[in-house]
Amino acid sequence: MKQGLLIVVSGPAGSGKGTTLKHIFQSPKHGKKYTFSVSATTRAPRPGEVDGVNYHFLTRESFEARIREGERLEWTEYCGNYYGTPIAPIQRWLYEGKNVILEIEVQGAEKVMDKRDDLVSIFLAVPSMEELERRLRGRGTETNEVIERRLAAAKQELTRVPRYQYVVLNDEVEQAVARINTIIDAENLRYSRM
Ligand code: 5GP
Repeated sequence: MKQGLLIVVSGPAGSGKGTTLKHIFQSPKHGKKYTFSVSATTRAPRPGEVDGVNYHFLTRESFEARIREGERLEWTEYCGNYYGTPIAPIQRWLYEGKNVILEIEVQGAEKVMDKRDDLVSIFLAVPSMEELERRLRGRGTETNEVIERRLAAAKQELTRVPRYQYVVLNDEVEQAVARINTIIDAENLRYSRM
């Protein structure tokens, strides 16, 4: 059976990764093509977030135990919290031929690039820093201090764009979704993947 694709969608917080991927998974035409990897984090759940659906919410101790046990494809410390991708389900899904999407920040994405040369890497870009700030503040879920830290992280993350295979501008969500689907369809037609 053909192996599934491992796809990383990265970009600064506020670039709209979550919203864009939600649209992809809810799309009747394309949603079934993808499996979403649920990350683990030590940050507190936001209102409405469900353990095991949005994230696996862990204490620092249990996150560190999983790092020691080698259970992460990648992990990073971002704005004071751990975030990481569990490796076991991903290996299983790829083997089963599923296309797996990781929605992770830039440092983690680079770690996956270093490990897997078959990775499809997509950077989601915003039209401007002003728009990024507007989106981060518009969420209304973070304190001013967290927003400032995320903006500083975003400036750093933008310098990493050249490492990605694809850059998708997220000016309008439907457009971004269509661009990502086009990339995946083309990747599936590569001779080297047949
Ligand atoms: P948030 O706290 O807003 O849910 O996520 C903060 C950042 O962490 C986002 O850029 C998100 O994409 C990223 N992130 C989520 N899960 C992971 C993960 O497993 N690994 C890494 N490296 N970053 C992640």
